[in-house]
Amino acid sequence: MDEKRVCPICDAPIKGRADKIYCSLACKSAHQYEVRQEKDKFFLKVDRQLKRNRKILKKYNRNGMTTLRRKVLHQEGFNPNYFTHYWKNNKGDLYLFCYDYGFLKLKEKNSQQIKEKYLIVEWQNYMENNNN
Ligand SMILES: [Zn+2]
Repeated sequence: MDEKRVCPICDAPIKGRADKIYCSLACKSAHQYEVRQEKDKFFLKVDRQLKRNRKILKKYNRNGMTTLRRKVLHQEGFNPNYFTHYWKNNKGDLYLFCYDYGFLKLKEKNSQQIKEKYLIVEWQNYMENNNN
């Protein structure tokens, strides 16, 4: 049982214990650095998207409760998969928030067309005490 193992960082053959993954300490820390960089990149990506979402919601929430076509927000770079928390009203509607601005997905049916919309709201203090 003498498989040739190579270092995932520099492709050098690995000698020594069977559980050794890297050829050297330098390669091991190089790998740890790469992992950290990747995690930071992901964190920054999520962070940027959340802030972009908030900015867009704030921009369109001109008169308290605004309803508009989803396409309008998506064209500006809004991504509804990124939100910080939620609030459910007593009808069971789920509002998703990006910090202090939230949105509710709506579907409006007129004659033949289904219009996909968002209702935009601002966070209110009473929402804090509501944990259903
Ligand atoms: Zn190596």
